[in-house]
Amino acid sequence: MPDLVDLRSDTVTCPTDAMRAAMAGAAVGDDVYGEDPSVNALEAEVADLFGHEAAVFVPTGTMGNQICLRLLVPGGLELICDADAHVVTYEDGGAAQHGGISSRTIVAARGRLDPSAVADQIRPAGYHMVPTAAVAVEQTHNRGGGAVYPLETLRELRTMTADAGVGLHCDGARIWNAHIATGVPLATYGALFDTLSVCLSKGLGAPVGSVLLCSAEQESSARTLRHRLGGGMRQAGILAAAGRHALRHHLHGLAEDHRRAAALADQIAAAAPKVCDPTLVETNIVALDLTTAGDDGPALAAAARSEGVLISVVAPRRARLVTHLDVDDTGVDLAARVLSRLLG
Ligand SMILES: *Cc1c(COP(=O)(O)O)cnc(C)c1O
Repeated sequence: MPDLVDLRSDTVTCPTDAMRAAMAGAAVGDDVYGEDPSVNALEAEVADLFGHEAAVFVPTGTMGNQICLRLLVPGGLELICDADAHVVTYEDGGAAQHGGISSRTIVAARGRLDPSAVADQIRPAGYHMVPTAAVAVEQTHNRGGGAVYPLETLRELRTMTADAGVGLHCDGARIWNAHIATGVPLATYGALFDTLSVCLSKGLGAPVGSVLLCSAEQESSARTLRHRLGGGMRQAGILAAAGRHALRHHLHGLAEDHRRAAALADQIAAAAPKVCDPTLVETNIVALDLTTAGDDGPALAAAARSEGVLISVVAPRRARLVTHLDVDDTGVDLAARVLSRLLG
């Protein structure tokens, strides 16, 4: 059987030979002592890209988000986010468990919060009410099918949260995809948020690693929280080198992933127009709505797998296809043919 075409996630990429060479050659030291030159260089580069004073390398995007939320929301206070946000869907209740954070969610089309709907929900301290301390957005939105927040909406959210005196966090696991899709500079996004967490291990193709961005004032708290969560790594420069290589060599390639996602959506929509709407494909994620196509995500995934195509089922009637570095045009063609036949 030929290699499987794995469209489950952009986390499945494996390091290229060039990335492995960069890792092998990395200068390293003990990062808990702040002495790993490769980690220090990565943190300085990413802080500079987003125009933030400080950056902290962390093992996962989940840890990056969890630390940022704790920088912004004291225990017993409230975070507002959309109901499908990664921070309340895929982080095992960490904000509540580790930070004592109360989360309140708003159902939002494709995961994108409407600034006026959020403004209506912000609560000041008062009679037994849980005061809102921060709002979190996700750029691009994972369960929203790779949807990109328009810059204007983010600006409105920034103004509104600043006026209300609450923080604004960005789960920027795929903010690179938003940057490449829209041309908005990373520093323009960076300037809008108090904290961000950005992943090196999604479309950028590094094996491990995320970076959180914060202010100089927040940096030592961020490092303490990282250590407390068990994220103080030693010769982590091996991993930081992979991230630096990814930023240099893989960022612009995300445009190819976007082109392939659009092509995949076009082909599937030609066979099954009710399942896939190509106009909703903004980045590297294609959402499939199976309500008119047998209603059975797991059965579709099993049938596709038997023909060499892996997809992920994100709800009983929703599936997701994600393009990435390790899927080329031939793989996308095969996936489009298999899925068109199964869904058509
Ligand atoms: C992948 C992802 C994360 C972080 O995931 P880790 O597996 O912990 O690195 C955070 N937010 C979103 C939207 C993601 O897709």
